[in-house]
Amino acid sequence: MYMTLPPNDYVFLGNVTRYDVITLEKLPLRSMTRSAKGSMQAPGKNVRQKSSLNRAILDAGWSQFTNIAVDKAAEAGRQVVFVTAKYTSQTCSQCGCVDAANRCMQAVFVCVSCGYAMHADVNAAINILKRAKLSPTGRGAAPVDPTDP
Ligand SMILES: [Zn+2]
Repeated sequence: MYMTLPPNDYVFLGNVTRYDVITLEKLPLRSMTRSAKGSMQAPGKNVRQKSSLNRAILDAGWSQFTNIAVDKAAEAGRQVVFVTAKYTSQTCSQCGCVDAANRCMQAVFVCVSCGYAMHADVNAAINILKRAKLSPTGRGAAPVDPTDP
């Protein structure tokens, strides 16, 4: 059984022994938390949204969380796989189409190419599993080719 952790998921780390493999996104914290305010010459866009994202990432203490997850997994003899987070939320887990328009709402993913629709976090989790070369299991999981990049 696998567990994937999109950045906005809350996970009870005491349950780490329930999973054989834990996949985590490597978040580019420096670029994601860079100020959105910009300068006088080039004012930033979406400042409010970016500020709230920054706050969420920093509040979550992602780095601390991943360190704890790795320690807990090691204690339990479980494997942790880190994957690149780039475009996991914009990529269709079924056809591979990458487009910001796929993410029509915060929680909804609808592929502009193949029309596949699902909860955005589940879609991202499947992409993370594919990058980790694992196959999803459990409710809502769709079969994937683990050899896909
Ligand atoms: Zn698609």
